[in-house]
Amino acid sequence: MKPWAEKFYKSRAWQEVRQAYFIYRHGICERCGRPGEIVHHKEYLTPLNINDPNITLSFDNLELLCLDCHNKEHSKQDSVKDGLMFDDDGNLIQSPRGLENSGLFRDRRAAFRKPRNRLT
Ligand SMILES: [Zn+2]
Ligand SMILES: [Zn+2]
Repeated sequence: MKPWAEKFYKSRAWQEVRQAYFIYRHGICERCGRPGEIVHHKEYLTPLNINDPNITLSFDNLELLCLDCHNKEHSKQDSVKDGLMFDDDGNLIQSPRGLENSGLFRDRRAAFRKPRNRLT
């Protein structure tokens, strides 16, 4: 879970809306008809809209999905892959955690330490 979204997902308001929406959709995935598990935000949450109830808590912006359909939905999204996040201004940046996980961070530091002329 993204750190800036944590407070929202733990909020009572979200828990209640999530539950109400689940019942409203009879617990069925809206795309494939299997049991739904995740209430997805059609307009993805960002640090910019996380405090906007019209986005975060509106039934219009929610979709009940099963895990499969939810994974598919999010894998379509190319711009925000693992290791990327929005900063406080809504700019897409590489998250420090993503850097560590990707190994890029380590590699870069190693590259700095290695004398360049050895490689050529
Ligand atoms: Zn589904
Ligand atoms: Zn989602």
